[in-house]
Amino acid sequence: MLSYRHSFHAGNHADVLKHTVLTLCINYLKEKDKPFLYLDTHSGAGRYLLQSEHAEKTAEYQTGIGRIWQQETLPELLTPYLSVLKYYNRTETLKYYPGSPLIAKQLLRDQDKLNLTEIHSTDYPLLRQEFLKDKRAKVLREDGFQQLKSKLPPQSRRGIILIDPSYEIKEDYQKIPKALLEGYKRFSTGIYLIWYPVVNRTQSQRMINQIVESGIKNILQIELAVQPDNNQKGMTASGMIVINPPWKLQQEMKELLPWLSQQIDPNNIGHHIIKQLVNE
Ligand code: SAM
Repeated sequence: MLSYRHSFHAGNHADVLKHTVLTLCINYLKEKDKPFLYLDTHSGAGRYLLQSEHAEKTAEYQTGIGRIWQQETLPELLTPYLSVLKYYNRTETLKYYPGSPLIAKQLLRDQDKLNLTEIHSTDYPLLRQEFLKDKRAKVLREDGFQQLKSKLPPQSRRGIILIDPSYEIKEDYQKIPKALLEGYKRFSTGIYLIWYPVVNRTQSQRMINQIVESGIKNILQIELAVQPDNNQKGMTASGMIVINPPWKLQQEMKELLPWLSQQIDPNNIGHHIIKQLVNE
């Protein structure tokens, strides 16, 4: 049985990086009126109460979004991300953290579609509840990896696919390159966002190498580390592998990532990376 619950980690530094990249990609696709699909293979519960027992136990959000929310001057590139946070938090207090499905719900337009899968028996009903009245969304309790076969290509031929497993099951590291290739064969022009943690550098790097060697073109890596790599327990860094990144994403992240890193890692003990791994 799966024991990972995102409610312990919502709003941490990894979510800040992941959701910033996601909002920039969504905004890019919105530059054209044509509809697109947002496919979220590992959706989570959608909404997280930061004063809950789970979130307070780890307090991870305090060293993630907590370090950004109160800033008086914020980079303009964070506007779409923060607009969603403000929508779910109408007062100064940061009470709720919106996960990836709620970020997309808020930023997508009437003509766009959402396909969301979550397998956990507790999180799935919570997610479904969030979308009961949303005609754009399909919310399924199914295996997220299978969606890359069954839901691609989208009718609109435009789309963002977020692959964001918990890596609780170590096979996820092997499943991702395979499932990704299945999706890419069907829909090679989609924007794929693959989140990865650095708990064990060798393990993450092996997966990245497999993606790089798969024949897939145009791959960008964006990583934010809050500690140097080490052999202790816990996540020292996280990153996004972006396939077919919007042409401006690399430049945008070059502007934004040093700022994010400075807020989240004020003692500058980690690092950040923006690297084109495979050319177009
Ligand atoms: N994407 C979410 C966000 O950004 O707010 C967070 C997702 S969380 C990191 C990973 C989720 O994947 C967990 O809620 C877990 O229950 C779910 N999960 C694990 N294996 C899955 C599978 N094979 N298919 C669908 N969901 C799965």
